[in-house]
Amino acid sequence: MGETIIPLADLRYAATLPPVPAQDQAPTGLLSDRLGRPLRDLRISVTDRCNFRCSYCMPKDVFDRDYRFLPHSSLLSFEEITRVARIFVAHGVSKLRLTGGEPLLRKNLEVLIAQLATLRTPQGQPLDITLTTNGSVLARKAQALRDAGLKRVTVSLDALDDTIFRRMNDVDFPVADVLAGIAAAQRVGLAPIKINMVVKRGTNDHEIVPLARHVRDHFGPGVVLRFIEYMDVGATNGWRMDEVLPSAEVVQRLGEVFPLQALQASAPGETAQRWCYADGGGEVGVISSVTQAFCSDCNRARLSTEGKLFLCLFANRGHDLRALLRGSSPAGQPWTDTQIAGAVGLIWGQREDRYSELRGALQADAGSGTRRVEMHYIGG
Ligand code: SF4
Repeated sequence: MGETIIPLADLRYAATLPPVPAQDQAPTGLLSDRLGRPLRDLRISVTDRCNFRCSYCMPKDVFDRDYRFLPHSSLLSFEEITRVARIFVAHGVSKLRLTGGEPLLRKNLEVLIAQLATLRTPQGQPLDITLTTNGSVLARKAQALRDAGLKRVTVSLDALDDTIFRRMNDVDFPVADVLAGIAAAQRVGLAPIKINMVVKRGTNDHEIVPLARHVRDHFGPGVVLRFIEYMDVGATNGWRMDEVLPSAEVVQRLGEVFPLQALQASAPGETAQRWCYADGGGEVGVISSVTQAFCSDCNRARLSTEGKLFLCLFANRGHDLRALLRGSSPAGQPWTDTQIAGAVGLIWGQREDRYSELRGALQADAGSGTRRVEMHYIGG
């Protein structure tokens, strides 16, 4: 097991106060960063809390009983989140993903979804609103989420075997309840449903084929299983390269049992490489941040639970949008949406993040106090 670093609370507060342009600059929807990447996808963390303690994200020895989660007063309200989302939509965002921690632990999340569902792109189109959940309470919530306007859902599921699943979530949570959540999501019409399995060599890689078989046999082609390479997110999971199972090996193992055919990406910036079963049994995907980086068309921004904007999953510093939402200009007036949009434009325009492409080189200077932000705080 590699070295574990205990995150100090202050990391959450490592953020810059965004400069606001002197002249109002109305968003054009054509924003791009220094690498020419547009802003299309906003991931919104609605809580830093979770009821699981997956070792690759929130190891129990770090996020224990004494860990101080964010007080409710510091979280963005639903109205603030919707305001920020509206500003990002004006900049070209067409997809919103609600994340956490575990987003379904945030009370009345349906209210936020209903607010976000009223937003439209500058072309008048509804947004693609989705959510990533560990599925623990999905069976109970699926209908209300659907009724509120959620279109589809991604469920994290790292094993089919109950013993391995309980060990990986580290809170002894039964796999049957998550499977029931997926079935409920399917029943109420959330689609497509994606299942994400983080593959850790020596821990759950032998579950690749059994889980694929179960999804084919029990959920059918409407549910897409994706295998995610184990990543060095944050600074607490003790990541080691020899515990990464490269996606190429996942595809090879799966293909030996279920022959596969490669598919085209369904949209620019898509993180998964897509495959389909040659026998028509559905689609699978691999997300290969470690061995096949996809930073070149990364169009994702992340908003933390308390309103800090991060430009990369592996960032070590954010931009404090909450200060603008709750603060006022030197003239003593609340900042307007256009002014905040101007600030977001400046931030994204300066973006040149591509951690996964530079991983090797960047890790070399990891000793210099540039600890990366934790995934439970900004969502995956
Ligand atoms: S490492 Fe950062 S820039 Fe690269 S794909 Fe991931 S989030 Fe995007």
